[in-house]
Amino acid sequence: MTGGCACGRVRYTAHIADDDAYLCHCRMCQRATGSISIAFKSVAQADVRWEHEPDWFDSSPIARRPFCSQCGTSLGFAFKDDSGNMDLTVASFDDPSRFQPRHHFGAESIHRAWLNTEDLPEKRTADHQKLVDKWVAATGRMPA
Ligand SMILES: [Zn+2]
Repeated sequence: MTGGCACGRVRYTAHIADDDAYLCHCRMCQRATGSISIAFKSVAQADVRWEHEPDWFDSSPIARRPFCSQCGTSLGFAFKDDSGNMDLTVASFDDPSRFQPRHHFGAESIHRAWLNTEDLPEKRTADHQKLVDKWVAATGRMPA
């Protein structure tokens, strides 16, 4: 499967063995991604090929995180020791739809109000007329 950052500078191909993924809620992942939690897919480092090497943020004494210094996309997580595995951010895959959340990690810092959101009202992007107008004025259409 292929993936990469928002601007397209960093691209990867990864061999994916199954659909298992998870949410990490630890404070370091929250800080590093700016998100309440981050969806990760664990992969063998040997199964990831970078077409363009990511930048690496030295995020703690034990870990580092691949990202794109041009657009800022968080691409994953890896321990510094040669543990064999690393994580890729689920949403950085070109098609993240196959992955299924199997567990929560970093449960001590879960923000519970954001876990069960199924009952909240849903609004589609295309129904937000002011946003549609901005896109049409700028590019002639909505992005794919
Ligand atoms: Zn980028």
